[in-house]
Amino acid sequence: MSSQRDDHENRICCTRCLMDDRVAGISFDAQGVCSHCRIHDHLEKLFPLGATGKQILLDMAKGMQKDGRGKAYDCIVGLSGGRDTSYCLYYAKEVLGLRPLAVHFDNGWTSDIARGNMQRICERLEVDLQVITMDWEDSKELTNATMRACVPYLDLTNDIGIARTLYDMACKHKIRYILLSHSFREEGITPLLWNYMDGRFTRAIIRRFARKKITHFKNADLHDFLYWILFKRIKVVNVTNYYDDMGDSVETMLTERFGWEEPGGHHMDNELFILIYYYALKKFNIDWRIVEVSAKVRAGTLTREEGLAIMDSIAYFDNKELASRALQKQGVSEEEFEEILKKPNKYFTDYPNYYSWIKIFRPVFKLLCRTHILPAHAYEKYFKVF
Ligand SMILES: [Zn+2]
Repeated sequence: MSSQRDDHENRICCTRCLMDDRVAGISFDAQGVCSHCRIHDHLEKLFPLGATGKQILLDMAKGMQKDGRGKAYDCIVGLSGGRDTSYCLYYAKEVLGLRPLAVHFDNGWTSDIARGNMQRICERLEVDLQVITMDWEDSKELTNATMRACVPYLDLTNDIGIARTLYDMACKHKIRYILLSHSFREEGITPLLWNYMDGRFTRAIIRRFARKKITHFKNADLHDFLYWILFKRIKVVNVTNYYDDMGDSVETMLTERFGWEEPGGHHMDNELFILIYYYALKKFNIDWRIVEVSAKVRAGTLTREEGLAIMDSIAYFDNKELASRALQKQGVSEEEFEEILKKPNKYFTDYPNYYSWIKIFRPVFKLLCRTHILPAHAYEKYFKVF
């Protein structure tokens, strides 16, 4: 059975999942169960699966169809070419009977496999695909600036870019629904300290660390969200919460029906993630797999032993050669990278940010998350409620 102690490193480890006291902000209850497991149980109650979940989605879909009358699309689905977003697009079209517009944000790192997946699935589902490609010089510089800021998550500006792209597309086509496919059951919730983001924090990093003028990137600031939410009344619906997309059957179905190919690891539809995860591992000793593998153990997709075996194996991103290749593409020398690794680690709390404002408006934030206006788990992520 599980134990309170990690045998190797004398760490406090959750008695249910695999998370231990290296995970930022984690706490344990009297039974030794971690705060992430408690959040999972809470979300399980809020978001039912099976027939109940499906009915909730069908009811929501009716609203989207009603709103889409006279328009070209009912909703937007953010597509990466990976497993979760591909399945979400299939589900929206075939199960919910919606007319989605697929939108992909390309920061210059979309893999060829992901590109092929998106093309095939959109063709076969007869869904329009719009690809927004970021200016490569800006894209490179923004990631490098985030690296120079010495914060754990290098994809900050790309996530902002994705949000911006989805909302802008919604405005352009007068669409009020953006479907997301983040699954707390399959992917877990990343600790806030590891990948916090907001417009002020992003701006501070660009101002302090970008070495060239950023001309094409558009931030997503508080006033933008107010415009999108209050004026455009755009909602972000995390549909994945209501359907079972766990296990291998999803991959099998996608492959058989759409010729979908596995991009080679979680988030590997975007090859920058090799560097993102490698950097976090070497600089912060963060093994990003812990979030997803623990989620799968919690949800029962993996046994604890299977999960431990994965965590004991060498991560696919712990690969100096691949990381070096990525650094080369980013235009960062090995020497500069080594220097960055040696610098003191920083977090969003070391830079200007909106977190104190977000905390003041906590009840409003909660309401927006619970009414599918903001992503459903943002509340649990931003406020450790357990
Ligand atoms: Zn746990």
